[in-house]
Amino acid sequence: MSYAFATKCIYGNGRDYDKDLTGAISFPIYQTATYAHPEVGRSTGFDYSRLQNPTRQQAEKVVAALEGGIDALAFSTGMAAITAMMELFSPGDHLITDADLYGGSIRLFDNVSRKNGIEFDHVDCSSADVESYVRENTRAIFIETPTNPMMNVVDIRKMAGIAKRHGLLLIVDNTFMSPYFQKPLELGADIVIHSGTKFLGGHNDTLAGFLVTGSQEISDRLRFLIKTVGSGLSPFDSWLIIRGVKTLPLRMEKAQENAKALVEFLLNEPKVKRVYYPGIPGSRGYEICKGQASGFGSMLTFEVESRELALHILKSTRLIPFAESLGGTETLLTYPATQTHADVPEETRIRNGITDRVLRLSAGIEDKADLIEDLKNALVF
Ligand SMILES: *Cc1c(COP(=O)(O)O)cnc(C)c1O
Repeated sequence: MSYAFATKCIYGNGRDYDKDLTGAISFPIYQTATYAHPEVGRSTGFDYSRLQNPTRQQAEKVVAALEGGIDALAFSTGMAAITAMMELFSPGDHLITDADLYGGSIRLFDNVSRKNGIEFDHVDCSSADVESYVRENTRAIFIETPTNPMMNVVDIRKMAGIAKRHGLLLIVDNTFMSPYFQKPLELGADIVIHSGTKFLGGHNDTLAGFLVTGSQEISDRLRFLIKTVGSGLSPFDSWLIIRGVKTLPLRMEKAQENAKALVEFLLNEPKVKRVYYPGIPGSRGYEICKGQASGFGSMLTFEVESRELALHILKSTRLIPFAESLGGTETLLTYPATQTHADVPEETRIRNGITDRVLRLSAGIEDKADLIEDLKNALVF
């Protein structure tokens, strides 16, 4: 029997754990590094927590069920997940990556992966002829959609078509939408990435990362890597993810409702010059987003009339903190130019539209009238 999404958030693909032990409803935190073996050659299925831990395994089962994968692997952070995944590639391999990605991913590719002999083309996958960048040694296409922070929408099915024709992996960082709104594996992706720190955890209280796949071969290779590089998620953090995910549908709906109200407000503010949100009818990514996701999410970016106003807003909000991160219960304002994208070369940053007048907002689940009031007051300058 296959359960609906909201049920999977609580039970994964079924309530199959701990029925015969204590009946605990909350999945236990197995705070153990190692496990006793019954005898030589026999194992309980758990040998050492770097390889696997029951609490981590439960978090992985739930996330795999939500994305429709056969396996999910939980890492200590989103970047730990991406770093381990890059070990699938070898010196001389070439990857096509979107030009407007999370700044940490760009930093990893340009400073660590390149040093390891991996080659990149950073391409605007929402508008460029991506297929023309495929070379003999190309191994993968890496995208986010919508992109961070400019909210460009990339056509996942189209990228999957290119990947299939040339035998490449399609890797999708699905952090911004979460599986509640978008399931890239169903659209042809091979690996889905999450910063579990964001919507999956959902409470700005822990860091986590996930890799999800529908391929047994990729799962086997990633399992080898997680036990080898040793960046698996701790039992307590796994428990926080399990708990956070239970309310994912409720939080996503409420945060999206708040984002839509804020977009409406910002579009009518004369000092706000542009609002980037894929849910604005007629905007560049609207139709594609509608065709591949069941919602538009709760992330939005806006440009105000001056740098001075942007800085003023960041120090003037009373409710909304000026802080990195996204996807939690608290609405957060971010300044990409000096925060998330500070390490992106200035030329790339400006080309992508990340000026010093651009602010990114992650809508939380507070009352929307309080959020609008806070922004309205901060815009008085
Ligand atoms: C935050 C983020 C990451 C990195 O995740 P961490 O958990 O902070 O390491 C990767 N991709 C996207 C889109 C993110 O927002």
